[in-house]
Amino acid sequence: MPGTTDTAPGDDAGLLLPVPDEDGAPFWDHAARGELRVQSCSDCDELRFPPRPCCPHCQSFASHWRRMSGRGRIWSYVLPHPPLLPAYAALPGYNAIVVELAEAPRIRLVGNLVAAPDAPLNSVDPARLRIGAPVKVVFTALPGGVTVPRWLLERP
Ligand SMILES: [Zn+2]
Repeated sequence: MPGTTDTAPGDDAGLLLPVPDEDGAPFWDHAARGELRVQSCSDCDELRFPPRPCCPHCQSFASHWRRMSGRGRIWSYVLPHPPLLPAYAALPGYNAIVVELAEAPRIRLVGNLVAAPDAPLNSVDPARLRIGAPVKVVFTALPGGVTVPRWLLERP
């Protein structure tokens, strides 16, 4: 919450929130309903991410949002080090991962690996992070009304 200074570790207050734009708004709307969907061309059927008006493959402007299984693999990750914003500095050992989706390995989403949907961003021991590890999506409602996809290890 803006103006508060009592951010507890594990609290999502003070974390940076997504700022949906016109092209990306459906992604967040679907996430709020517990669905991971990726924009797909309605003419050539290619998936694309991040969302944008025109298909980079066939230049069509027709698109829809295809539901994904929510499964993927860790394609890469980082363990951010200081200097960090205060809310992140309160979560030592947190991770940021890049997930390639099972249905579309070219589609890669940036997120966080957590131990449970509402667990803090540093709830997974960094030693457990492995490139190639299978993950599945969960959804976390953040203060301010936005719901974000996060990721759990398939084999915790
Ligand atoms: Zn297309």
